[in-house]
Amino acid sequence: MSNIVASTQVDALLINGQRLMQMMSDVGAIGALPSGGVRRLAFSPEDREGRQLVQRWMAATGMTVSIDAAGNMIGRYEGRFPHAPALATGSHLDTVPNAGIYDGTYGVLAGVEVARTLHDHGIRPDHPIEVIVFADEERTMIGSKAMAGKASLDANFYDHPHYEPIEMGLSFIGGDWTQLTSAQRDTDSLAAFVELHVEQGPVLEAAGNPVGLVTGIVGQRRYLITIDGSASHAGTTPMTMRQDALVAASQVVLAVNRIGTKTGDGYGEQVATVGAMKLSPNVANTIPGRVEMTLDMRDLSNQRLDAMVVELEQEMAAIATQTETQIHIKPQLRNEPVPVNSHIYNAIAQVCDTLNLPAQSLPSRASHDAQIIASITDMGMIFVPSQGGISHSETEYTTPEHCIQGANILLHTLLKLDQHYRCPEEITALRTESKV
Ligand SMILES: [Zn+2]
Repeated sequence: MSNIVASTQVDALLINGQRLMQMMSDVGAIGALPSGGVRRLAFSPEDREGRQLVQRWMAATGMTVSIDAAGNMIGRYEGRFPHAPALATGSHLDTVPNAGIYDGTYGVLAGVEVARTLHDHGIRPDHPIEVIVFADEERTMIGSKAMAGKASLDANFYDHPHYEPIEMGLSFIGGDWTQLTSAQRDTDSLAAFVELHVEQGPVLEAAGNPVGLVTGIVGQRRYLITIDGSASHAGTTPMTMRQDALVAASQVVLAVNRIGTKTGDGYGEQVATVGAMKLSPNVANTIPGRVEMTLDMRDLSNQRLDAMVVELEQEMAAIATQTETQIHIKPQLRNEPVPVNSHIYNAIAQVCDTLNLPAQSLPSRASHDAQIIASITDMGMIFVPSQGGISHSETEYTTPEHCIQGANILLHTLLKLDQHYRCPEEITALRTESKV
């Protein structure tokens, strides 16, 4: 770290909370809806306008701003050792159709505010600090996936009736579909990635804790469960002679809920949901002959997910026998759990201690760019509370106090990691100095 500023001053450094909240409301005004929410769909004029505003703030902070082929905008605050791997932070500015102003945007602007604070105080960390605005987080995650070398190169994969072809979308925000693979980052160019995000769930608020130490991003399994009974007349078929697929399905729903509610090893991380159901023939006077339903299960541990499936299969076999139906379960989707890096987790915990902010460990049950970036560098995440646990809604809200506290934690986490990761150049420089 630069010796322009004494280390005690650095320890006491705080971000400019008023400026952060002003940036939040300035970006929140772009794509504002009459209902009070915001709509900045990826690749829309509003998305581009938001990015351009953030780009101006980055440039005014002495950051160099570049846009890679996947449309990721990267603001870079140079460190003392320009060839050192970057300490990166950031999130996304695109939103769902009826969003609040915090999801994603908060992580980007807190990163910009961290850079502005360092700039104000003439502090130059050893490592460059990068603030990344990932492209299209909400729908395709093309930005973070391309950066990790995991993006589909099939343009049809990104097709959606309400979006332009991906080629046009990317070029509208400064990317280039034909060069997509060039967005892949060399793992040597990044030391770590820390994402600050609103929790989007009710856990922190319910516990009264201002900070979440994210333990990992849960794995997700999705299945299609099909139950075959026998469709017959609802009046003439006696109760004892029925093979009612919906009665069996109802028991499966209860079994899923029971298995999901078990507290496992104390983390209470697992969740299990039947979210969609299709009956046939789905008429009032016919016993349901077939039910198709979804099952979504999430947990940080693959072992626990495996155990949940085994237990459910046993219960389903018993339900099938008892209801004289046939029950089949078919995997549809599998996303692996992504643990966070323990050094980064510990650094965040120590910073919370120093700042006297009670922190709570919890997993992230939603997807974030951080889980993709974890495949190319060390990753950590910080959560701040979401009022009522609400997100992806115009009523999404996080108090200014929590927003400011989160940004201060991000600032000091990055400064701590700046000391944790040693730069090859710095080691060479120290050797040279000691010889003189
Ligand atoms: Zn988000």
